[in-house]
Amino acid sequence: MNFTERDRAVEAAVARGLVGPGEPVAGLLDIAGIRRSAAELRAAFEEFTAPGTPVLHAFAVKAASLVPVLRLLAQEGLGCEVASPGELALARAAGVPVGRTVLDSPAKTLAELREALALGIAVNADNPEELARIDALMASAPSSAPIGVRVNPQIGGGSIGAMSTATDTSKFGVGLRDEGARDWVVQAFLARPWLTRLHAHVGSQGMPLELMAAGVRALYDLAEEINEKAGRRQIDTLDIGGGLPVNFSSDATTPTYREYAALLHATVPGLLSGRYGIVTEFGRSLLAKHGTVLARVEYAKSAGGRPIAVTHAGAQVATRTVFVPEAWPLRVAAYDAEGRPKTGAPVAQDIAGPCCFAGDLVAENRPLPLLESGDHAALLDTGAYYFSTHFAYNSLPRPGVYGYATDADGTVRFATVRTPQTLEDLTEESGGAHAKSLGDLGKQ
Ligand SMILES: *Cc1c(COP(=O)(O)O)cnc(C)c1O
Repeated sequence: MNFTERDRAVEAAVARGLVGPGEPVAGLLDIAGIRRSAAELRAAFEEFTAPGTPVLHAFAVKAASLVPVLRLLAQEGLGCEVASPGELALARAAGVPVGRTVLDSPAKTLAELREALALGIAVNADNPEELARIDALMASAPSSAPIGVRVNPQIGGGSIGAMSTATDTSKFGVGLRDEGARDWVVQAFLARPWLTRLHAHVGSQGMPLELMAAGVRALYDLAEEINEKAGRRQIDTLDIGGGLPVNFSSDATTPTYREYAALLHATVPGLLSGRYGIVTEFGRSLLAKHGTVLARVEYAKSAGGRPIAVTHAGAQVATRTVFVPEAWPLRVAAYDAEGRPKTGAPVAQDIAGPCCFAGDLVAENRPLPLLESGDHAALLDTGAYYFSTHFAYNSLPRPGVYGYATDADGTVRFATVRTPQTLEDLTEESGGAHAKSLGDLGKQ
């Protein structure tokens, strides 16, 4: 049998007890793979961008909100795109410089805006009311932070409604095709010499590359129009967002960053010509292929004639897959009790999680070697938005997350990214310190 690096890592994780009876689920991250993806991203844009063009690849923190991962990516030359005070705190804890941090969020508070401007963090205003807040802050304490406006080119959605941010009624940015909106954006820039960026992120997963490129084209055309009317290069940077889709059906990485950069180069020739600095905000495509959820099979049973493997990975780590399985299918790999790839004829079976609701299945009727109690189920391609985005249903603890790398001699080394949440932590975050607080409240 041909063992992959992931197979070796699974076997080593079981042998070292990272997953076992006491810790029945964990997240594993292929660190060399993450470094490779970061390098591919940089190389793709370097190849198509005029020499000397400033390019910042700001990793979308929500895709893997883990401090050591943000620091690893920073070492590999990336910054961070943050969308909440929590994400900003993680980026800062990872040592990401403020100059390599971009703040996007549709609901920034006044305090958040004030802090970002004071720190010099790039801010993309989502809507006219937010821009008015920034006006007031700039009047009282002028900031040299790069400030932009997020627009929605309204070029249409992809295959997953919840991920499509460029529909007519998307909640994000200023809808450019709404009546009067484009003129409003142009005038907003002409009236504010400190507005220097335009931002669009037209969708995540499920967007065809051509549609993404059409969104960037609209962004570029608007920037050219504004600069023309301003009579100077007022807009100096275009933030083109992230959204490169990930292939969840095999080990192949497709599409690639290079394909996307080449398409942008062909569709929007001026974009990478050095006329503008570039910011990107990729998330899923940097991490997804490099993560695995590894879970013990607690019981094997059957119902209505169908075998069911009851595992410890369900909605708490694979929330989207469990709730919207047709949009977020995951591959599952079967491993035996020692963490070796399981062989045997495929049998259609359900892979269930530990949560107390009937729909807690990560795969239904999936042909796999029959899983037995003590075996392991691995959810593949889960490095982004899965175990880093815990769902606290049933008070299931956040699992441990471990980075791995394989030495030349095949030895697998692990490093802790996040320790498993303890029951003490869990009780504490569930109001444990206030156990008696309701004692007299509301008593007559
Ligand atoms: C979520 C998000 C991203 C990242 O999207 P991916 O599909 O993970 O690449 C980038 N920018 C913004 C504004 C986002 O909301």
